[in-house]
Amino acid sequence: MEYDILIQGGTIVDGTGQAGFTGDVGILGEKIVRIGRLEPGEGTNVIQAQGMVVCPGFIDAHCHTDVYAADCPDAAGKIMQGVTTDVCGLCGDSPAPVGEGNLREYIRRREYKLPGSEPAEACTFGEYRDRMNRLGNTTNMALFTGNANLRVHGVGYENRAASDGRWNR
Ligand SMILES: [Zn+2]
Repeated sequence: MEYDILIQGGTIVDGTGQAGFTGDVGILGEKIVRIGRLEPGEGTNVIQAQGMVVCPGFIDAHCHTDVYAADCPDAAGKIMQGVTTDVCGLCGDSPAPVGEGNLREYIRRREYKLPGSEPAEACTFGEYRDRMNRLGNTTNMALFTGNANLRVHGVGYENRAASDGRWNR
């Protein structure tokens, strides 16, 4: 069988709970098509993995990659750790939605973040998501909309109940 990529001789930990085992992983396109003792075909990119672990990407179940993803779309810091999926927005804030009327205050309150990582213009959550997709982020991103963003988007920074249904954008 032909493979685009063949990862040979690594210790495969497949995530099922069984012990790791030595084997090869054959990849065609973007899919693993075979695991076992495999031989490369002509033109196969062979990666020697003896002494290394071959496993599915890890999920970082709580991170803030959404804040700096636009500045580091290659996500080298994540990929080098084996993280391929980031779950973001769990702490109640997110880079979107940010309404036009609250943009300046939003930026002021987040000045401690990495420079350049905050939105310079108002954006909806969909606009943020589309921007990240255009940048071609390396990791998969599971995004929660921050509950603080929803409140601020709805009622601004006023200390009042969010009860009248107005939106500030
Ligand atoms: Zn957090």
